[in-house]
Amino acid sequence: MKIKLLLSTLALAAVAMAQPKLQLKVHHGAGQNGYDVNSTMISGEKDMLVIDPQFSLSEAHRLAAEILESKKNLAIIYVTHPHPDHLFGLAVLHQAFPSARIVALPATVNAAKTGWPARQKFWFPTYGNNIPGPEPVLPEELTTPVLTLEGENFPITGGVQGADGPGNSFVYIPSLKAVVTGDIMFDHVYFGVPRDKAREDWLKTTEQIVALNPAIIVPGHEGPGATRDLATLAFMKKYIADWDANVAASHDAAEMRAKVLKQYPGLGMEFTLNDRVATYFPAATKGK
Ligand SMILES: [Zn+2]
Repeated sequence: MKIKLLLSTLALAAVAMAQPKLQLKVHHGAGQNGYDVNSTMISGEKDMLVIDPQFSLSEAHRLAAEILESKKNLAIIYVTHPHPDHLFGLAVLHQAFPSARIVALPATVNAAKTGWPARQKFWFPTYGNNIPGPEPVLPEELTTPVLTLEGENFPITGGVQGADGPGNSFVYIPSLKAVVTGDIMFDHVYFGVPRDKAREDWLKTTEQIVALNPAIIVPGHEGPGATRDLATLAFMKKYIADWDANVAASHDAAEMRAKVLKQYPGLGMEFTLNDRVATYFPAATKGK
């Protein structure tokens, strides 16, 4: 009896060891063209799940090429939140992989739908035909906040405050101890530092992520030097403290910008820094 039990235990252990682990790979859309945004590919034995489909069409094509070269079947695409840099690439992926299910939380689907025309119009002058047209490509609503890949469930925590607004979400992959964070975590980029209650709520979301004790953290955006682990939180906290100190010590936007660039040279998303600074130092009204 004992031997039988031992043998079956050994057999179970062998099965567990033989089971292929999931693999996680990040496609980074570098620079202004790719908005320094991350797409996360999680692969099982045969199937793949992608979280966030890139911003520009050209970068989404590069992502599509990487998916094809993996030889996996793209089964599911998940969109963390409805901002264009996490949404517009769907136009390419939907065309390239028509059988892949595109899903998001209901609030994300709704906001993606209502926000698309205005956002398309807003970004067209900068990106031209490198973003999709005014007709939206939308995810379908998830009825439960869980993604499944080859039998493993990935719980989604949604409706949470991100750095640039509410309605964000993050995905936990238990067997990898990984969290894919949408625009909640940022690493080595000039991210937008929110104020007051928005900042408080956002930092609470980061605490929810830290509570999972993840080994891997995929930030929504990253730049040179990003480590994709908990060190990203230390970076963010220091950047916020330094940002506040620089705001207090600066007289205008130009001075603020110069201080940030001197202290943090060469981060990603530099193309957003002027706007970040302008939220703290609004330009003088024209004509005055
Ligand atoms: Zn983003």
